[in-house]
Amino acid sequence: MVISLNEPAIDDVAVTRQVILQRAGGRNRGFFAAVSDAWIRRVQLYMDIFGNPEHIGPSIVTDENSGKFINLYLSPKIDSAQKVEVLDIIRQHGLDYCPSCGEDGYPRTLDHYLPKEKFPEFSILSRNLVPMCDTCQGEKLSKTVTDDGEKIFLHPYYDRLDNIQVLVAQIIPPFTSGTITRLGINHDLQPVDLRQLCGRHFQEIGIDSRYDRYFQQQYLRIKKLFAQARTVANIDLNDVINDVSQFKRMASFKSVNSWDHVFYSSVIKNTPLLQYLASGDLAIVG
Ligand SMILES: [Zn+2]
Repeated sequence: MVISLNEPAIDDVAVTRQVILQRAGGRNRGFFAAVSDAWIRRVQLYMDIFGNPEHIGPSIVTDENSGKFINLYLSPKIDSAQKVEVLDIIRQHGLDYCPSCGEDGYPRTLDHYLPKEKFPEFSILSRNLVPMCDTCQGEKLSKTVTDDGEKIFLHPYYDRLDNIQVLVAQIIPPFTSGTITRLGINHDLQPVDLRQLCGRHFQEIGIDSRYDRYFQQQYLRIKKLFAQARTVANIDLNDVINDVSQFKRMASFKSVNSWDHVFYSSVIKNTPLLQYLASGDLAIVG
């Protein structure tokens, strides 16, 4: 995740108790009564260890009973505690970017940070439910840790990256031939554990190829912009710097980890590129 989110202001233990109470009249009342204490302990553990898959231990739910928990998420009754107090609230997130990758757009799905298939008891835990774009979700699937047992994905509620630009890009000459971009993790990002986690996260969601396509298009657009500007007025290096600075600032209002901000911050740091935009041959722009 590149954009941190506020932890939900939801009392997950209280909601879990309500869900258990609501099951008291249902088909699985005996099952939920028997599992209630263990379930609440798991909810508490999740919060204590910040959902870290390295420390969560195996699920308490057997395969034959996993559907009983997963159905609470997939088919909640309209007045159920999990729908009213968790699912409806998390779905009203109002985001216009994906917290996992930073790409623009309304994240339409909720991802279970710890997958519901592996950890059914966290199916309706608010802190385990994260808005995410379809592409990221398709890459993340049910992965949690590497073969060495290391956590793969940033947790948007617990891994704080506020105001830290995680990805840095570099546009490499020759500038006339489109973009050759190097994308990497910001070396100033500390501590090193967090930097390594960011590396695993971005590798697993396939950020390189996704950014590359975006950069190619964005680079063509900025060349077109200055090519057109130069047909109607004389512009110099300062004009280019001012314009790109404004674009960068605008993007930072969304997040320093929005794709636009990563792009414009790479342009503004690149003096040869700025000079090229001010006075170089932009003729390849169609
Ligand atoms: Zn995404």
